[in-house]
Amino acid sequence: MRTLLIADMHLSNDTPELNQGFYRYLEHTAKGAEDLYILGDLFDAWIGDDLLDTPHPLSGVAHEVIKRLRALSDAGTSIFFIHGNRDFLIGERFINACQATLLPDSEQVELQGVAAVILHGDSLCTLDTAYQQFRTMARSPQWQQGMLAKPLEERRMIAQGMRMQSQGNNANKAENIMDVTPEEVVRVMDEAGVKHLIHGHTHRPNIHDVALADGQGKRWVLGDWGKLGWQIVADSEKGLRLESFEIN
Ligand code: MN
Repeated sequence: MRTLLIADMHLSNDTPELNQGFYRYLEHTAKGAEDLYILGDLFDAWIGDDLLDTPHPLSGVAHEVIKRLRALSDAGTSIFFIHGNRDFLIGERFINACQATLLPDSEQVELQGVAAVILHGDSLCTLDTAYQQFRTMARSPQWQQGMLAKPLEERRMIAQGMRMQSQGNNANKAENIMDVTPEEVVRVMDEAGVKHLIHGHTHRPNIHDVALADGQGKRWVLGDWGKLGWQIVADSEKGLRLESFEIN
């Protein structure tokens, strides 16, 4: 049996080839998997599930994504979703339409017998205090209700403004601030008592050794999708492995 984990597809209406590549991934690579975990930033931006009712180009992509995920689910694969920093406004309606299950921001799971903590990864970047302040605010129900009450066009402008501001800020941030904080990784892993932690977000695919209170662990980082896609495969016989593959 196989369990798959992916993150940071960043699908949008400006990425037709990538979108097609993702659909092919669901139809071929993911076919027959027991579980598929999507660890955030499935979409490059998501401003509310009511987008599904508008004629906006992203709405067309989103309906197609729903159709493909639902087909995978109908075929017997359990689909789990964790919010990313770009698509944390994905709500119950979208999740239910995909026949997926929304997980908390950080979750301990069994991946074909391997215990791991899975998360998007932005919460591990604790040195980025400005972002963490925004994150705390933007994850509060009050902020989200206020945001979702605004007209879609206004939300679109706000989201675009936030993206540009974050890109501007990030250009001036040191490398270590943009990456996960090593001490936070150890803290999360020790607290859960697991030897494996899997995340995306940083777009720095790699496998890192981590010195834990109780021996050696591994931090698995998924890459973002572009010309290449990335996945972690948990195999009931061979354990975990990180793989990249051509999108087209
Ligand atoms: Mn992210």
